[in-house]
Amino acid sequence: MKASQFFISTLKEAPADAEIVSHQLMTRAGMIKKLGAGVYTYMPMGLRVIRKVEAIVREEMNRAGAVEVTMPVVQPAELWQETGRFDKMGPELLRIKDRHDRDFIIQPTSEEVVTDIARQELRSYKQLPKNFYQVQTKFRDERRPRFGLMRGREFIMKDAYSFDRSPEAAKASYQGMAQAYRRIFDRFGLRYRAVAADSGAIGGDLSEEFQVIAATGEDAIVYNPSSDYAANIEKAEAAAPTQPRPAASQALTRTPTPGKSTCEDVAALLNIPLATTVKSLVLATDTQDEQGEVVKTQVWLLLLRGDHDMNEVKVGKLPGLAGFRFATPAEIEAAFGAKPGYLGPVGLQAPVKVVADRDVAVMADWVCGANEVDVHLTGVNWGRDLPEPDLIADLRNVVAGDRAPDGPGELAIERGIEIGHVFYLGTKYSLPMNATFLDEDGKPKPFEMGCYGIGITRLPAAAIEQNHDERGMIWPDAIAPFTVVICPIGMDRSDAVKQAAEALHDELAGAGVDVLLDDRGERPGAMFADWELIGVPHRVVISDRGLKEGQLEYQHRRDAEAQKVPAQGIGDWLK
Ligand code: ATP
Ligand code: MG
Ligand code: MG
Ligand code: MG
Repeated sequence: MKASQFFISTLKEAPADAEIVSHQLMTRAGMIKKLGAGVYTYMPMGLRVIRKVEAIVREEMNRAGAVEVTMPVVQPAELWQETGRFDKMGPELLRIKDRHDRDFIIQPTSEEVVTDIARQELRSYKQLPKNFYQVQTKFRDERRPRFGLMRGREFIMKDAYSFDRSPEAAKASYQGMAQAYRRIFDRFGLRYRAVAADSGAIGGDLSEEFQVIAATGEDAIVYNPSSDYAANIEKAEAAAPTQPRPAASQALTRTPTPGKSTCEDVAALLNIPLATTVKSLVLATDTQDEQGEVVKTQVWLLLLRGDHDMNEVKVGKLPGLAGFRFATPAEIEAAFGAKPGYLGPVGLQAPVKVVADRDVAVMADWVCGANEVDVHLTGVNWGRDLPEPDLIADLRNVVAGDRAPDGPGELAIERGIEIGHVFYLGTKYSLPMNATFLDEDGKPKPFEMGCYGIGITRLPAAAIEQNHDERGMIWPDAIAPFTVVICPIGMDRSDAVKQAAEALHDELAGAGVDVLLDDRGERPGAMFADWELIGVPHRVVISDRGLKEGQLEYQHRRDAEAQKVPAQGIGDWLK
């Protein structure tokens, strides 16, 4: 592929609404283009990544014996009424009407349609097991679409559905899928964990999520570093015994802290009601002199009690927060004497996603407001000894350092991005939809089902959250938009450079390598900046000077510097 034939459009600045690095970088690299809230065009550069993700998923699904179908995006409401989901599902389900005033939905998932196929097509036990999958557009009218492709409203999901004769057979199908998912996620080249999950709205009692590890992840994962135990925090809590908590009066120390903010101050500042939930945020304000020098910095621990989604509480987004910035670890330590390490996954490692409810439970030894002017509480272990009983009921049971439920070891908590989910469903859909097959004894039996999702368009965003630096993205080879980029210097002036670049391009392309020749004639600096932003893993620079010595420059996107390599044989090496 030649850059002049392709479409490349990069930006220096990220759009103001891009809060996390993957959203910023994908937009800057021209991979996605926003059309509306949570609705994006996949631009050519981004689509190449998505297609690679899809290809790996298809290969492994086919290998695992699943068969591909494509089900309609627009589905008649009648099917969804059979299972009751047309009414039960909340506003995430987009309901529409056609010209005859008939109800339809836009698929957020497809259990109803696939179960309808099964009850018509799978008549005998001899046709089982069967696993149908699709890679298709989904629509969920998310309450807060955000973070670009990470939480879109329109997105691509791979969804698969297994049909079996018996619970045992269905569980074997489930295990087969869980294995296939491990192969898929291994191939992506990302760090991930498979964690036990609650089966949630879809039901069933076997459920695992596949979580890409990243500080900006919306989910919390609990695991035992010395065993295989890993669960999402909801599941871990459901399993954990309720822990006795020390009485507040014994555990807390009231400390005069003149000049520091209280909850009421903060609530008044932000113009928010105080209610029941505790959330925290450490911000700083800088006072500047006329020359713009910072002459004073104040650190604020905002302990918010109110029904706020903390993603709303972003610098500049909530009235009253203009002029605030996130405090640095050093500032926090100086102001509160709290070790930044205790902040865990909160705020600092993930400046955009400030604090979620569950983070409160992993904080220890904190200073917080005491609802009294110039007084703070010190030594607070949030999640264990906050003063109000109704707050305690609200807080999480599982904290880092708790004994692991599976034996020796202490629990650790980290953040993850859910990119896949496998469920055992049982007869949850087959019973209400009367989807049966004839078993060996000639009697009709309801199908035993499982369902299996992968967030195809979420995955590139997760990959970037895990793999980037200050210059841009760093793709694993398996899902890079291009694996090799050839950057000729002065191609328009030098025939030798042009010939060498084209020869290497043709050689690699002929060998099936996903190579791009940058023949746009950009200055070297601009050209290199583009490819570092786009994150192509392997770069070859061809220049007259190098060619005279029989050499080219090679640099992996993770390398600090380029290295000279003999021009002879580089093609073989890159294949
Ligand atoms: P989440 O907890 O993030 O809302 P979910 O549990 O609702 O996801 P599932 O119903 O399990 O999602 O769907 C399967 C997969 O689809 C998820 O594991 C995720 O990777 C992906 N996915 C779900 N919602 C979105 C979305 N709004 N944007 C992009 N991908 C999504
Ligand atoms: Mg969801
Ligand atoms: Mg989920
Ligand atoms: Mg899920």
